[in-house]
Amino acid sequence: MATPASAGLVACPSCDLLFDVGGMRHGEKAVCTRCGDFLTRVRDDCFLKLQSYAISGLVSLMIACAFPFLSFESSGLESIMTLPQTAQQLYDQGRPDLAFLVAGFIIVIPAAVLGLLTVLSTCIIRQRYYPWMVPVTRLVFHVQNWSMVEVFFIGVLVSLVKIAHMATVVIGISFWAYGAFALCFVASVGNLDRLQYWNELERLAGLKRAG
Ligand SMILES: [Zn+2]
Repeated sequence: MATPASAGLVACPSCDLLFDVGGMRHGEKAVCTRCGDFLTRVRDDCFLKLQSYAISGLVSLMIACAFPFLSFESSGLESIMTLPQTAQQLYDQGRPDLAFLVAGFIIVIPAAVLGLLTVLSTCIIRQRYYPWMVPVTRLVFHVQNWSMVEVFFIGVLVSLVKIAHMATVVIGISFWAYGAFALCFVASVGNLDRLQYWNELERLAGLKRAG
């Protein structure tokens, strides 16, 4: 794959100071000289990494939804919970609003982000440009802020420590799969450098216009 051109001016997201980041090479990072805010990091393999992490994340999420997440045993009673049941339980208890939010933040939104990132990165790696990539990319950049994957996983770890005193907790395959999914999600979003991404999209659009 061709090295994405990182040419052009970029404005600091915090203080609007303009920088020319053209000529940056693989592994180099640019930060604002006035406020120290992050500008961009150039990596030649960022789209391949993005695609790999997104696909791995989706596979991990499928495993996480299919197997038991946790099982509790107390006074001879055992209850097994799967990931989709976390939202289902809230729905059954008469809180459809909360159930909708939980399912959205921990499963639907992150899955949609990874699915779209897989499609977008595959198109870029194959050097293809389609006009729908621009609105879809904007949607991904906007929606990724609404994913609570890491927050949910840390919340589960904290509650496990508390529940361990009251019941015997058995951690299921899905728990580890969700942990892998959370790591892949953070890694894929971390490899999504906005400047490098838009530059590459613009370059592909220019190539298509040129015929
Ligand atoms: Zn700045």
